[in-house]
Amino acid sequence: MLEINRLDVYYGYVQALRGLSLKVQKGVLLAIVGANGAGKSTLLETLAGLHRPAGGDIILKGKSIAGKPPEYIVKQGISLVPERREIFHSLSVQDNLLLGAYHRYRSDRKEIIADMEDVLELFPALKGRERDLAGGLSGGLQQMLAIGRGLMARPKLLLLDEPSTGLAPLVVREIMSSLKKLKNAGVTIVLVEQNTQHALRIADHVLVMERGRVTLSGSSREIMSDFRVQQAYLGRN
Ligand code: ATP
Repeated sequence: MLEINRLDVYYGYVQALRGLSLKVQKGVLLAIVGANGAGKSTLLETLAGLHRPAGGDIILKGKSIAGKPPEYIVKQGISLVPERREIFHSLSVQDNLLLGAYHRYRSDRKEIIADMEDVLELFPALKGRERDLAGGLSGGLQQMLAIGRGLMARPKLLLLDEPSTGLAPLVVREIMSSLKKLKNAGVTIVLVEQNTQHALRIADHVLVMERGRVTLSGSSREIMSDFRVQQAYLGRN
């Protein structure tokens, strides 16, 4: 579905991605783990059109999307749920969700209402809170709202940047199980996670990133049993 070939991305003189290549198969949940500064967020942001690569290519369903603007990429079916959630605190839950569908607002209102109902089915904790201000929600509900807003774009590929940050284990479990449901409903997912244990449990395939490159790749079972991963990311000796 998605193929990245030798991608280079810089911040000024700092090279964040160094000839990174990877493939994402349709219908999988791919987890990307790695230390702080490995380039995970930069990778997702580049896929979403927020950074222009200096080299390499990004091919989505046979078409190059590298360097295309974010609005174009959303229309191609890629939606990013950013690390800092970036929901609008002074807007209602409903308006935040509607913003996720802004690019098709004129054409399909009925579908938009139906999609909003689907999001509330997926995250029942948001039900009844539609008119509440997003800023008053707990961290867990804000994260569910951020994912819900991403889904309102009807993505074929959903990118999530550390959705578990700062959340209680029970809430993280709820969010991870909703990602599994989404995958079963046919959404391809790339999940960047600091919380390696949770990510490995739900992922089909796992990549380890170090200093702007993919250094290890395998099924989640293979990666979980890799000695280096156990030491570096799972806190086992
Ligand atoms: P984290 O988990 O801390 O977000 P990460 O794996 O997502 O880490 P990135 O945030 O993508 O890593 O950062 C990759 C590299 O790019 C790091 O060396 C980082 O210092 C650098 N970097 C990231 N953002 C900027 C920026 N705006 N300006 C300059 N350098 C940056």
